[in-house]
Amino acid sequence: MEKTYHIITIGCQMNKSDSERIANYLESLGYSWTDERERADVVVTTTCGVRQSAEDRIYGLVPRIKRSNPKGRIILTGCLSRREDVRRRLEEYVDIWMPITELPDLAAKLGKKGTGSLSGYLKINPKYGSNFSAFVPIGNGCDNFCTYCVVPYARGRETYRPAEDVIREAEGLIKKGYKEIILIAQNVNSYKDEKGMDFPDLLRAVNDIEGDFWLRFATSHPKDMSNKLIGTIAGCAKLCQHVHLPAQAGDDEVLRRMNRKYTKDHYLKLIEKIRAEFDPKLKNRKSFVEPISITTDIIVGFPGETKEQFQETARLFRAARFDMAYIAQYSPRPGTASAKMEDDVCRKEKKRREEELMKILRKTALVNNKIYQGKIVEVLFDKKNQKGIFGKTRANKTVRCDRDAKAKIGEIARVKILKIQDFGLEGKIIDGKK
Ligand code: SAH
Ligand code: SF4
Repeated sequence: MEKTYHIITIGCQMNKSDSERIANYLESLGYSWTDERERADVVVTTTCGVRQSAEDRIYGLVPRIKRSNPKGRIILTGCLSRREDVRRRLEEYVDIWMPITELPDLAAKLGKKGTGSLSGYLKINPKYGSNFSAFVPIGNGCDNFCTYCVVPYARGRETYRPAEDVIREAEGLIKKGYKEIILIAQNVNSYKDEKGMDFPDLLRAVNDIEGDFWLRFATSHPKDMSNKLIGTIAGCAKLCQHVHLPAQAGDDEVLRRMNRKYTKDHYLKLIEKIRAEFDPKLKNRKSFVEPISITTDIIVGFPGETKEQFQETARLFRAARFDMAYIAQYSPRPGTASAKMEDDVCRKEKKRREEELMKILRKTALVNNKIYQGKIVEVLFDKKNQKGIFGKTRANKTVRCDRDAKAKIGEIARVKILKIQDFGLEGKIIDGKK
């Protein structure tokens, strides 16, 4: 009988992309997908260890899987797979511990003949989770060692794919009709391949592939956001006008202790520069072009962050006028430098700080969205539920239309915006397929 597999993915885009590679690899070994994880021969869990809450989910999930499927082989990969304490804790439930870079060796561990000699797991082709939007990893790992972050330990040092491989993968997707290509890495803007291509060069090369598609990238580090990159973002027509630029904090002393290697001033100047490069190009256009949207990640309650220091983050929030932010309450991660610092901001205060930032964010996002009222924008639809059909604009704004609207998942349509909110727009489709 045919062997089956099931994959559970927790965490970031990189984890989703890794799971796509694992899926294709298992299929090349003769396994086929099943929705029933209780019966699968192999169950893979791609884990996230960036925050305590994501880690805690695994401690409940993995034993549950093993109990409901004692015969299945449980594989644990992702951020937690290298952690000795996690290995001890879940030892009796996990059959194979597999840091993602060891994917090429999985065949042997499953007793199959496989492609063990491949140089680097990113050479393995993925089985894309979507047929219109694809993550294309350009590298793996991180060398930055922000003091709170587990990623450099979990994923190891930065390695980058040759530009040719990235371009070939993107070309293949575009030929198949994919509408959106998202280049991903922990820190895309420190990309450099063996032939000296940097990230702006790579962006331009992908932008220049023939075809009608949207191009995106994530995540960028403010310390590596060069003028060349900012110029490239503004100059590439297929590149969407959205930059995700994690600030993490607004106080220079906290940023220093986080090992972020920039100041609040530097960060705010970058945003000004990005807007100044992009937005004048919108003037004198006949039809509406969305302004560039800027989103961020923030940690509140980093060890030693005083109320005054937090106010610097609140100031940064007001000045930056973000469109969206992922605000995390600090949690110490084993093995990181900040885990040795005292986690001295209590939970209640972390929550209060998070809420204060959310309030500012809701206001700036709403003000930014006002320009959309009555305008026509292109939307790539990606989800449908009871509440309607949803999609994203080029500036990554979520748009909702009526469920019975003439739109299809995976297609781009023109939408007239009738209602604006802080984190979403609503509108009416004015024509069908683009
Ligand atoms: N490479 C990206 C971030 C990757 S981790 C960057 O340079 O910013 C994703 C997000 O998780 C981070 O941006 C941070 O906001 C959050 N995060 C990481 N470690 C954390 C911790 N110990 N506590 C709370 N949030 C954390
Ligand atoms: Fe973590 Fe910093 Fe690397 Fe981002 S840049 S993955 S926050 S160490």
